[in-house]
Amino acid sequence: MTKRVVLIGHPVAHSLSGAMQQAAFDDQGIDATYELWDRPPLGLADAVAELRGDDFLGANITIPHKERIVPLVDRLTDEAHVTGAVNTITKEGKRLIGHNTDVPGFRVALDRLVGKQKMPRFAVVLGAGGGARAVVYGLITEGFQRIVVFNRHLHRAEGLVKHFGRSAAHMELKAMPWHESIIESELAKTKVLVNATSIGLAGDVSPIHGEIIPPELLVLDLIYNRTRFLREAEAAGSTVQDGELMLLHQGAAAFTLWTGKPAPLELMQRKLEEARAGGVRSAEGEPTGEPEPKAEEQPTGAGAAD
Ligand code: NDP
Repeated sequence: MTKRVVLIGHPVAHSLSGAMQQAAFDDQGIDATYELWDRPPLGLADAVAELRGDDFLGANITIPHKERIVPLVDRLTDEAHVTGAVNTITKEGKRLIGHNTDVPGFRVALDRLVGKQKMPRFAVVLGAGGGARAVVYGLITEGFQRIVVFNRHLHRAEGLVKHFGRSAAHMELKAMPWHESIIESELAKTKVLVNATSIGLAGDVSPIHGEIIPPELLVLDLIYNRTRFLREAEAAGSTVQDGELMLLHQGAAAFTLWTGKPAPLELMQRKLEEARAGGVRSAEGEPTGEPEPKAEEQPTGAGAAD
């Protein structure tokens, strides 16, 4: 029987995950299809119930469901439990197991961003959703001593901080209200800045004004393209990286969980790049609806990359 793996999110159209996972299944001789299921929050429970059928191998979970899915699975792995977020589901018979492969994916991206430098100790995280939870946990376990989380709805950032209470007991993890003056003063004290909001996913917008980004930061955007945020950070003198590497490695870890086989990383990366060449896509595949701007067409002024 051909097995099925689904990506459940809202939206999921034209997902890059589909391109890399289907190619990996085919390459490894695994008789499985990777499908995209666009399900709004009200349809999530029914979608999850369907996964219990024998034909399903598992699922990926994306924006905006990573936290909401937690009570709907039967068991959580340690990383899913500690983050309170699930991005991958495997099966044990009809039982659903929730994993978080965004955490190892983020670690690879952080290591690449930091390069040969000493691992910094202070970070600012923009956003407090499911992706931000993987980022914060990754930073805590890398030994960061101070992490400040800003979110549009402060209560969600406060919920995140409370959730990490025990794992963050030895360090300072704070939620702060989203005011640019407060973000600016925190950026002056930090070394790492991560955008884990979905601002920039659909349209050429940035969560913060480029003028408040100091030079020489290490800046990561979980979104999988050269966002305005990254262009402005680079123009300010920062080292920047997009979400491609995190996407690749969370996907590779999920592939291994479903199939028990090592992921064909090079092939998956090539397929990601080919899919990306088809237009601007987000970290997890949602198209922005805009063609990729050529270098000479990129916005000028504060938005210019160089
Ligand atoms: P969630 O829906 O769980 O969280 C969305 C976050 O974005 C929240 O912090 C939300 O703030 C914020 N946000 C959304 N719209 C606005 C807005 N208009 N103004 C201010 N804040 C806003 O999504 P995820 O955490 O799952 O994903 C977030 C981003 O990270 C997405 O772009 C996703 O593609 C990317 N991602 C990439 C990964 C990769 O592998 N590269 C892995 C995981 C995520 P509020 O709570 O106030 O609504």
